[in-house]
Amino acid sequence: MPSRKFADGEVVRGRWPGSSLYYEVEILSHNSGSQLYTVKYKDGTELELKESDIKPLTFFKERKSGPTSSSPSRRRGSRSRSRSRSRSPGRSPGRSPGRSPGRPPKNSRRSASASHKAVIPDIKEMRKEVLEVKLTPLVLKPFGNSIHRYNGESEHVEKNDIPRKNIQESLPVVLKESHGTPTIEPRPPICKDKLSQDSSSYMATQYSLRPRREEVKVRDIDFKEEKMVMKGPPSSRILEATTTAQNKEFGGVLGVLLLMFGLPVFLFLLLLMCEKPDPSLLNFPPPLPALTDLWQARVFGIYLLWFFFQALLHVLPIGKVVEGTPLSDGRRLKYRLNGFYAFLLTASVVGVSLFMGLDLDYVYRHFKQFALATTVFSVVLSFYLYIRALKAPQDKLSPASSGNAIYDFFIGRELNPRIGSFDLKYFCELRPGLIGWVIINLVMLMAEMKIQNREAPSLAMILVNSFQLLYVVDSLWNEEAILTTMDIVHDGFGFMLAFGDLVWVPFIYSFQAFYLVNHPHEISWPLASLIIALKLFGYVIFRCANNQKNAFRKNPADPKLAHLKTIHTSTGKNLLVSGWWGFVRHPNYLGDLIMALAWSLPCGFNHILPYFYVIYFTLLLIHREARDEHQCKKKYGVAWEKYCQRVPYRIFPYIY
Ligand code: NDP
Repeated sequence: MPSRKFADGEVVRGRWPGSSLYYEVEILSHNSGSQLYTVKYKDGTELELKESDIKPLTFFKERKSGPTSSSPSRRRGSRSRSRSRSRSPGRSPGRSPGRSPGRPPKNSRRSASASHKAVIPDIKEMRKEVLEVKLTPLVLKPFGNSIHRYNGESEHVEKNDIPRKNIQESLPVVLKESHGTPTIEPRPPICKDKLSQDSSSYMATQYSLRPRREEVKVRDIDFKEEKMVMKGPPSSRILEATTTAQNKEFGGVLGVLLLMFGLPVFLFLLLLMCEKPDPSLLNFPPPLPALTDLWQARVFGIYLLWFFFQALLHVLPIGKVVEGTPLSDGRRLKYRLNGFYAFLLTASVVGVSLFMGLDLDYVYRHFKQFALATTVFSVVLSFYLYIRALKAPQDKLSPASSGNAIYDFFIGRELNPRIGSFDLKYFCELRPGLIGWVIINLVMLMAEMKIQNREAPSLAMILVNSFQLLYVVDSLWNEEAILTTMDIVHDGFGFMLAFGDLVWVPFIYSFQAFYLVNHPHEISWPLASLIIALKLFGYVIFRCANNQKNAFRKNPADPKLAHLKTIHTSTGKNLLVSGWWGFVRHPNYLGDLIMALAWSLPCGFNHILPYFYVIYFTLLLIHREARDEHQCKKKYGVAWEKYCQRVPYRIFPYIY
């Protein structure tokens, strides 16, 4: 058994890899196979060192400032080691942050902090070597000392407020020559921009040492992360899809099966409950009609007419054409933005038809039949989408797809299914369902007047109609914003979006108006004013937050956004960390939920049914936020964690 020179627990000096700096370390253990010592530095960093890189405490004459003359033998030893290291092919100069001569802070001449005192065997040699010391940042607690990627750029450059003194104290030391006299001083932060020299600006990163074999691991992780980034080559999407496959959302296969059968059933139960004179939960379940009463071929035909009418409007060559976010192969799909025009044309056609005697009440009388016809259509569409996606090349699959038939049928296998230039998902997101919702609300408004023998709609109905009209018109006016949403960028087109966009949105989101037809509720103007104020409050948050992010994503250098703080990420995209996105991590969801509450309040408090939407929507957005969080963590790694640290609340300030 080979002998070892140092015992466990012995305090010695360990060489800093890649340099000639020696720090005080404690021997933790010795591996007789590799002949390496595991040593622990004072900041807790553990490292494996060769015996030749460890010296007894008495070996060096420690100095606190200024140069220390070393023995010739020590100088020779140091020189030979350093030369062999600088030739090492394993060195990665690009990741060596200490190379820039501009980095050391001006006028700084400090002594090393007690915990990082280093001893210098050869001053002249070291001056060159020290600039080649390789540092890797470890994120400050609470994220622990896990290995994070570092690509030579600061992961999070921000104008934050961490005191310089604290950061400086935790840094290792470097050798610097001042007036010809070498001194030891703390290493400046690795910020590429001027923030590193700004006394109020820091990267909250701590540098520490890491065994070389860990660096190999880091390179592996970097490589894997690189492949996971959406901008990567097609193979990266396959890898990402595979990774996602292991983390199926919505409770996996069983969960999506329950959703696929449960949601349509639930929709019909809600509609049946809402028709009852007393829709109390105590009266649940409502009497069920015969299935044959729910199906009418004529209704299905009318729905098809509606769908293809919207499709026709969609292909009209009006409205500008924009590019979507880059796909896995770097391509950008083109989208025509004419949703708002489609809405205006639809409104004109409906208006003229009403003038000519169109019986909109037909829709109210066959409301459940329309719901069933639309459900059937969405299921047929889902099958079509799944079957055509079986032939889709791998790089066209959604990152959410898993390879499991049931799960993929639900989540959508193909990301952007198109017939020619007609994008099926994009079309369904904003047209037949969303515009259909406004038409249904109008139907309910007219039904209320008819059933309740009113000359004018109730104030509650007017509020519900106008609030939701504003929401739809706003979505269509800002149509381009949908191109960066999870639905378009991440989820495939399957049952989830087909049923959600075509059935759930028009029939569930119009629920308050449907409720008011049979359950009149009078509200006073003062109360209405408060509800309007709440709606506008939510709208301002929702719209400003979405606009701020969209403007930033479109042009991060927009001078109007120059006042906002950002965190740099290794993907090249930055994250906003002040403004609306510094308030909570999803301010747009907060605004959306406030608006949802304002939609329900005009219905009064007699029943919980009209509040179903706001309850469901809260759960939906909490779940959606978690999904997005998961994606962002994967995309942005440590920068996202830093963002979460800076902006701790997800949706509701001080609550969640
Ligand atoms: P968001 O519009 O909130 O987009 C999330 C994405 O924004 C993230 O993946 C990330 O993407 C980017 N992002 C997150 N944080 C930051 C930051 N700090 N700085 C810059 N970019 C950031 O998500 P949704 O698609 O879920 O929602 C869009 C809108 O639609 C919301 O207003 C929502 O309320 C609404 N909505 C409405 C529904 C309804 O049924 N009525 C249903 C679902 C949503 P990246 O970094 O890649 O750009």
